[in-house]
Amino acid sequence: MAESPSSRGDSPDRSKTPPMSPQASDSQEGLHIPEAKDGFFGYNEERSLHQIEEKRFAHRRGSDATSVGRPILSSPLTGLATIIPDGISEPGSVPGSHILSAIPEPVSPSVDKLSPLNKPTDQLPPEMKPGPAHDIPIANEYAPILESFRKCLELRDKYMLVSGQRLGFNPKDHDGSFNGLPDQVSDVNGLRPDVDYNNFQEPEESSFHKWHIYPRPPPPHWHWSDKLNGPTHSSTPGDEEFEFSTCEIPGEHEWSFEIDEKGVYQVYESPQAENKVPVFNIPTIREYFIDLEYVLGVISDGPTKSFAFRRLGYLSSKFTMYTLLNEFQELADMKSVPHRDFYNVRKVDTHVHHSSSMNQKHLLRFIKSKMKRSPDDVVIFRDGKELTLEQVFQSLHLTAYDLSIDTLDMHAHQDSFHRFDKFNLKYNPIGESRLREIFMKTDNYIEGRYLAELTQEVMTDLEQSKYQNCEWRISIYGRSPHEWDKLAKWIIKNKLFSHNVRWLIQIPRLYDVYKQSGSINTFEDIVLNVFRPLFEVTKDPKSHPELHIFLQRVIGFDSVDDESKTERRFHKKFPYPRLWDAKESPPYSYWSYYLFANIASLNQWRRKRGFNTFVFRPHCGEAGDTDHLTSAFLTAHSISHGILLRKVPALQYLFYLKQIGLAMSPLSNNALFLTYERNPLPDFFKVGLNVSLSTDDPLQFHFTKEPLLEEYSVAAHIYKFPQSSLAELARNSVIQSGFEMEIKKHWLGLKWYLPGSAGNDINKTNVPNIRLEYRKHTLMEELDMVGRATSTSTITTTTTAN
Ligand SMILES: [Zn+2]
Repeated sequence: MAESPSSRGDSPDRSKTPPMSPQASDSQEGLHIPEAKDGFFGYNEERSLHQIEEKRFAHRRGSDATSVGRPILSSPLTGLATIIPDGISEPGSVPGSHILSAIPEPVSPSVDKLSPLNKPTDQLPPEMKPGPAHDIPIANEYAPILESFRKCLELRDKYMLVSGQRLGFNPKDHDGSFNGLPDQVSDVNGLRPDVDYNNFQEPEESSFHKWHIYPRPPPPHWHWSDKLNGPTHSSTPGDEEFEFSTCEIPGEHEWSFEIDEKGVYQVYESPQAENKVPVFNIPTIREYFIDLEYVLGVISDGPTKSFAFRRLGYLSSKFTMYTLLNEFQELADMKSVPHRDFYNVRKVDTHVHHSSSMNQKHLLRFIKSKMKRSPDDVVIFRDGKELTLEQVFQSLHLTAYDLSIDTLDMHAHQDSFHRFDKFNLKYNPIGESRLREIFMKTDNYIEGRYLAELTQEVMTDLEQSKYQNCEWRISIYGRSPHEWDKLAKWIIKNKLFSHNVRWLIQIPRLYDVYKQSGSINTFEDIVLNVFRPLFEVTKDPKSHPELHIFLQRVIGFDSVDDESKTERRFHKKFPYPRLWDAKESPPYSYWSYYLFANIASLNQWRRKRGFNTFVFRPHCGEAGDTDHLTSAFLTAHSISHGILLRKVPALQYLFYLKQIGLAMSPLSNNALFLTYERNPLPDFFKVGLNVSLSTDDPLQFHFTKEPLLEEYSVAAHIYKFPQSSLAELARNSVIQSGFEMEIKKHWLGLKWYLPGSAGNDINKTNVPNIRLEYRKHTLMEELDMVGRATSTSTITTTTTAN
């Protein structure tokens, strides 16, 4: 590791100093990392809330018919946000359709036989008169709660803005007709829902050239054909074959970069200047921890928790009501669309690990065919000698005939439930790490040739299915600075490009393992190994040409590991990465910050150069503490799993308000953390969270070569999702994905980034317009209530790029 330049010299000698040297931790330099706070809404709290409500309800029943209109639940809010402004009428909606908001909260049953909906507005009691929601006074006790929610939303806006994770920031979004969105109106998934898009003028010019996708995506109408007669090449009509030599590699940029003493790469205009100031202003880790602490404080506040719990309950019931009223209308809308149905709407598998992207049958067939056809391949170097495939299998006392799914033993069974360690062992075919080394690694003795062939076969399967797409997560560990080049060369050499595939880089949080094995000294080494090559290639693409080309197909970063591991707080104050030489891994929130901050800095520079930028989409909320989800709320574009949000109502409400994407995998959770029927996915969907379905590990959990369809199919059966909901899930998956603007427009409609039905093209998505209008209005009411929480004036642009 001598080649990794760093100022590691000033870190204390770890053989002499205790893991956390007192100087480092007690000094001013130490970091106070906020502890997870109890944002959970426990069973007891829920019980007592219900009891209180039932009591109130019982007391009111016969007696207080006179107090018309005062909301039953004593919360002024239950009636408040449910009243919509005058004159909102939906195109294409039928009477009594989805504008449930016009139905006030239940007044006591005996009050009036006539539904308030049918009454002229002047006969309604004053509290129920339609009017802008924010005109209605909010009870004093709720004002601070809403204020704190508003502040949380603003904090997220701040982090999304600096890191350039919003739609339109990425030069890849500029397809020649979409020219980005102004900072005040954009969010990660498109135009903010509270922007009046009828009066909104999109920018007329873009600062970028039309983004060129290479190889070109197929034309709008095509059919799969096996023209090369073999699974080694992706082949669609009019397809251009990837040819590295034809790729244009831009030259060097004059700016320079350097890691600062706090572990974040900074970009400088003139490296020689005295008192040089970074070009981009990235929030410091202190600032981040202060913000994190604030949000943690909000979500663990008792009244806030129960307030959010009620709002979520309301949203969920409202959706049920909507479905009851509009089921048939939705069905009629969907029937009137020619050609489109569940099978031919585009779906993206938003969370799947490349190393287990094939199913077991596929892997088995591949191993068998290799044993039959090329037993003499030299595949591994063990104990000082080269071994052929045949010799490896002899040493395992196996023949091709012996192999079966059962001997492969890679399916996750009951024994892996709550045992992530056991689950990880399932990655080894036949429990043999040798086979994993040969078949599942990119940097082995055969330079990942087998895995590349296998990957090509899976790509061919995907292209054949045409409507299913993947974002494969592949690892960069941060153990050595050469990992990026190796990976990029593997991709380029084997031409692993497919129209249906994009890549995400997953960074396992394995500091403690590398530390123990001695491959790194401090946490800063990981930051260096992961990010230095990326800054180098951004400054001068010619320094790593393969990496430059590979990165065009990379959409972002992921952070993975077992979240249920306890994060021991071994000291009050934590040091910066340069001094982090303890044997324990830093906590989740610390990892998140360093990925986020370096991505932010990198993104700003890449945009400046017209290169594509990245998003942060970590695994989060599969297990662990509330601070995981909280740090993702601040730093992540979207997350995978998020099942723990079910226990943290205030945070769930915030995720709803910000429409943060959740790539959920109920079948995977079922094997590891939470049984299928208890999975919160259907509840999240009702509330209106931005959820999509994904497979996680088809090798361990799925049986067919269309694992994503299995996922939809099981959800349809167990959760009774109707076709319209499946279509909405599929649409969400495309929106959350990192596919280019040009492709998303083709899949979802030209204006897919507009909120509500304006962004929908039912001919492409098969989602009824009334569904999306319902979602938009419901969200708008909540945002209205949080005091137009997205008031943009308060957001300060922290990027100083000129
Ligand atoms: Zn995963």
